[in-house]
Amino acid sequence: MMDSPLTITSLLRHGAQVYGDSEVRTFEGEGCRSATYRQVADRCERLAAALTRLGVGAGDRVATFGWNTQEHLEAYLAVPSMGAVLHTLNIRLFPEQLVYIANHAGDKVVLVDASLVPLFAKIRAQLTTVEHIVVIGDGDASTLGEVLRYDALLAAEKPGFAWPDLDERTAAAMCYTSGTTGHPKGVVYSHRSNVLHSYGVNSASAFGLTEADRLLPIVPMFHANAWGLPYAGFMAGVDFIMPGRFLQPEPMCKLIRSERPTVSGGVPTVWTDVMRHVEAHGGDLSSFRLIVCGGSAVPRALIERFQERAGVRLVQAWGMTETSPLAAMARAPRNTAPADEMNWRERTGRIAAGVELRLCDDAGTVLPWDGQSVGEIEVRGPWITASYYKDPAPEKFHDGWLRTGDVGTVCDKGFIRITDRAKDVIKSGGEWIPSVELENAIMGHPEVLEAAVIGVPDTRWQERPLACVVRRDGSSVGPDELRAFLTDKVAHWWLPERWSFIEQVPRTSVGKFDKKVLRARFGTGELVYVGPRSP
Ligand code: ADP
Repeated sequence: MMDSPLTITSLLRHGAQVYGDSEVRTFEGEGCRSATYRQVADRCERLAAALTRLGVGAGDRVATFGWNTQEHLEAYLAVPSMGAVLHTLNIRLFPEQLVYIANHAGDKVVLVDASLVPLFAKIRAQLTTVEHIVVIGDGDASTLGEVLRYDALLAAEKPGFAWPDLDERTAAAMCYTSGTTGHPKGVVYSHRSNVLHSYGVNSASAFGLTEADRLLPIVPMFHANAWGLPYAGFMAGVDFIMPGRFLQPEPMCKLIRSERPTVSGGVPTVWTDVMRHVEAHGGDLSSFRLIVCGGSAVPRALIERFQERAGVRLVQAWGMTETSPLAAMARAPRNTAPADEMNWRERTGRIAAGVELRLCDDAGTVLPWDGQSVGEIEVRGPWITASYYKDPAPEKFHDGWLRTGDVGTVCDKGFIRITDRAKDVIKSGGEWIPSVELENAIMGHPEVLEAAVIGVPDTRWQERPLACVVRRDGSSVGPDELRAFLTDKVAHWWLPERWSFIEQVPRTSVGKFDKKVLRARFGTGELVYVGPRSP
């Protein structure tokens, strides 16, 4: 067979040529502005020419600091295709983390969305490698000193940039982990890994995107490679519906009603908020054929609510920044009886073709796929990272496999059930209590909106679970009722004695439950709870 390189350039060319009339629509609060793929491809060529003129060469990092917009998609396509490396900065990180990440990556140019200028101004002075700042959109940017304007740069160039021939193993893009459990680490995707991942995303067992789809990527383009959706979508010719900065449930529901997306992806907290809004104020979710939900455990109750209230398939997926990220999706196996479907769909996911998986115990021994043995999940494959950028982290790898830090079981059909993250595991009297499973069981109660469980010190058992619960509006459900509800659902020694009723579970920069914050609040005595005092 011919040995053609798998590059983002070829994906860009294909989309622009074959689906030239497909649209990229960006929400602006009331309506959407729109550009065709043909226009986007033309602008990609101008962007590459402008960046070249600014001195960006092969391997240089071009960072973005923005929302999901047409311009962000242009950067996703143009920067790798010119041989440079796209680095998506997470706008929601603390300034110190952002400074660390941008300097560690050595970003040369940063494309900043005009609405984020005040945020970026907080870190500007500490960025040691940045030579140019390009502002996307209008608005005052005087706090940043000298800046260039995106549209003016593009207008000054001509289309027809000569894309270089690239080795498929060239770095295309990089993304830092969101640091839910530690210091952010850089993952570098190659052209090859991103193209292969796009084929994976586009398989019928995964998203199966086609030109008939209207894709609403809610997962931010600065998080986990935006789940590969910019590339998979462009390759398939979807109409993109970019939400811009309008991520709150109200404008989101308005956007969904008017733009009628067929496919979307986002973390559970986003969909919990959307469903809560629809239940309170009405809404129309009928355009969706598929909502993919992942990034943290998806409560069964949420999957059921979408199915029952809106007739929408919400499918759980699992992955990490390190895995590009698609690694598993929870579609029920063939011949599943309708009554049994949810028992499959509540699992974390079925391993995707292209990703190899194994389960290991603490000693590194490989465990069977029997649905019973509990161990750490390890993965390998062409879109799994083999290292971190300038950060050896040998503890994250094991004989050529990536240690995910996720603990759980695998059954003989390749369905994973993640019961915990290694760092969140609760060890009570020598027995493990899987916090994710316990949370899901608590969230099964109709009056519970969210639940997060952390381990706290205990005189008798060393560690016991403390359940932090967000009740639905108007509910006063308490510990006794919740314990009674859990009795036939979880092992008796899992039943928490300690309960805290809170307004909202603190969230990380990408919308996951932030247990680090809960533990800190517990440590300072801020977290009010009922139940035994800890030593
Ligand atoms: P961070 O590690 O900083 O949170 P990522 O966004 O890369 O950054 O998160 C990957 C992690 O998210 C996984 O290792 C896993 O713990 C969690 N995760 C992702 N999807 C799921 C899921 N469906 N169920 C449970 N956990 C999930």
